[in-house]
Amino acid sequence: MTELLYLTDCYLKEFTATVVAVEGNGVALDRTAFYPGGGGQQADGGRLLWDDGQAQVVKVKKQDDQVWHWLDVEPPPVGTPVRGMLDWEHRHKLMRTHTALHILCGVIWRDYGALVTGGNMEPLQARMDFELEHMSVDFAEEVEAKINTEVAAARLVKTCILPREEAFQIPDLIRTKISLLPEGIREVRVVEIEGLDIQADGGTHVANTREVGAIHVVGHESKGRINKRLRIALGE
Ligand SMILES: [Zn+2]
Repeated sequence: MTELLYLTDCYLKEFTATVVAVEGNGVALDRTAFYPGGGGQQADGGRLLWDDGQAQVVKVKKQDDQVWHWLDVEPPPVGTPVRGMLDWEHRHKLMRTHTALHILCGVIWRDYGALVTGGNMEPLQARMDFELEHMSVDFAEEVEAKINTEVAAARLVKTCILPREEAFQIPDLIRTKISLLPEGIREVRVVEIEGLDIQADGGTHVANTREVGAIHVVGHESKGRINKRLRIALGE
């Protein structure tokens, strides 16, 4: 089982670990700060270094309880201590973008009571679909003003891991139309934007909404009678 260091420290850029399994050009580590992708957030890239070698991490994926890192060269054998270094520029953009989506989600839920039906993000741009009947230029502009107010409010973003029972005491924890939480899960990671939004979430986030910077609503479209999409973009 790989310890997921990014769950408790989103700002970890470097870490040490040990190779616990090798398959082809892939290695599983006992711990990692590489986000393996999921929940609309891309996997991290970066490098692995060891005593007499180094490699680019070209793909990261979680399989069962282990995180696999695929390398561009032949990997070191099981038992090798390694140092991992994230492509931090890429990851930090994704953190800002992911938090921007939670701000959007929080505002849409608080002010319009709409659930999320889907979403996806690239570094500095994202889209999110909501269970909304109406969408217009005016609405998009109103939402843009509201989300930027929350950025300027410099709200703290906190993560914690709670036992399942305790997490489910929180009202509206699952904001997606379909609950994405697997049945058997015992602990739930919760991401809270203080005073705005609280969600079960496994992704990486910035620590303060101010760090997101200005958010632009760059598009809106109808994806069905009660399904409307908003597109956002962040500055460099
Ligand atoms: Zn999220």
